[in-house]
Amino acid sequence: MRRKLNTQILMITETAVLIALILTSLVSYELFKNEVFHNLKTYVEIFEQTGLEAVERYDTFKNKENNLRVTVIGKDGGVIYDSYADAGSLENHLERPEVQEALKDGSGYAVRQSTTMSMSTFYYAKLLEDGNILRVGEETTSFYRLLLGTLPILAALAVLLFFLCYLITHLVVGNFMTPIERMADSLDSEPSPDVYPELKPFLRKIRKQHEDILQSAQIRQEFTANVTHELKTPLAAISGYSELIESGIAGEQDIHHFAEEIHKSANRLLALINDIIHLSELDSTRQEIDRAQLDLYAVARDCIENLQVSAEKHQVLLQLHGESCVAELNKSMIEELFYNLCDNAINYNVPGGRVDVTVQTEEGRAVIRVKDTGIGISPEHQERIFERFYRVDKSRSKSTGGTGLGLAIVKHIVAQHQAELSMISEPGVGTEIKVVF
Ligand code: ADP
Repeated sequence: MRRKLNTQILMITETAVLIALILTSLVSYELFKNEVFHNLKTYVEIFEQTGLEAVERYDTFKNKENNLRVTVIGKDGGVIYDSYADAGSLENHLERPEVQEALKDGSGYAVRQSTTMSMSTFYYAKLLEDGNILRVGEETTSFYRLLLGTLPILAALAVLLFFLCYLITHLVVGNFMTPIERMADSLDSEPSPDVYPELKPFLRKIRKQHEDILQSAQIRQEFTANVTHELKTPLAAISGYSELIESGIAGEQDIHHFAEEIHKSANRLLALINDIIHLSELDSTRQEIDRAQLDLYAVARDCIENLQVSAEKHQVLLQLHGESCVAELNKSMIEELFYNLCDNAINYNVPGGRVDVTVQTEEGRAVIRVKDTGIGISPEHQERIFERFYRVDKSRSKSTGGTGLGLAIVKHIVAQHQAELSMISEPGVGTEIKVVF
């Protein structure tokens, strides 16, 4: 960027310098031309007053060293007098532009280049009272030669200015870039380096993203560690019990119990693996989820039907309230959400407790509530139960076949639907989880 800025600013200033030089040359030539014409006009006015005889007598004009040429031209264009040449030998001058102009307007100007282009002659002609035309010409170096002559100076000037511009550009760009480079070097350090106020939002955003990346890397690392740990326990149990059976240490009467433990651990492994696969699937769905018109009440009814047996086993009354409520949702995700919330409300309940599921529309938004009269969650755990593998009471969770991933999945599903999740819970009273779509 520094290099690009340097070259671009340098190119702009150099172009400006060149244009300025060319314009200055043009303006100086224009001034010079005006000056010459002004002089010629003065000569004509003097000669007009002194008369032609004075001109003729004025010997110097006949001298070619002096580059002033005086000509008197008649009404018909014939040359009456010329200070350079014999009047008779000169061709008719009627068609000359300055003569034409003088005949028309009283006076006329013209500049003519010599054939070599190195010299130009400036003419001023004036219509006299007697009808003749008095013309004075002056030969000077042409503009091209003038330009050619000043070219080395102009080139030297251009080179000098180029270096000056280079130096200034370098300084300016350096000043401009330093805070940005300082910012790039100290993206992580607090306090913020002294950057342009316009860049502060970028700095904040980059820092936030950086923190998020670090955080998600940490979460992933923790998750991997947790997964390994969670898988190890049932596997160790399976390995241990089967080894006892294999070595013959287990007596006939133990085998049935060991097989039961192996079965339980295998089921636990399956549940864990299912949830892990599910979570990683949810993690990798970056694009929009598939949605369709879905009646939340109907999904809740199916879920409750499936969980009735479990509710009865736990001596919990599971009921659905509310009304049909249609929204654009992902069916399998919503089924999973209901299942996880109701399953928890049954599992972390007390015998004789209730689970009330409500589906309704509030202020134009679909709302679901899963309320239980169970053991509740104390405030210090409430924040954390949506984390992966977080369980308030590990042994209780394990005894109910919980993996500690159910609420993490719920949180994910809610986020994918851009819905809002909230929870009210009191230990010993119960828990209510609310999702607003
Ligand atoms: P689990 O598979 O252990 O149920 P979850 O992620 O579903 O995992 O829940 C995390 C933890 O939150 C549970 O272990 C339990 O301690 C607590 N919890 C979840 N739902 C409830 C509830 N309705 N009442 C009381 N505690 C709950």
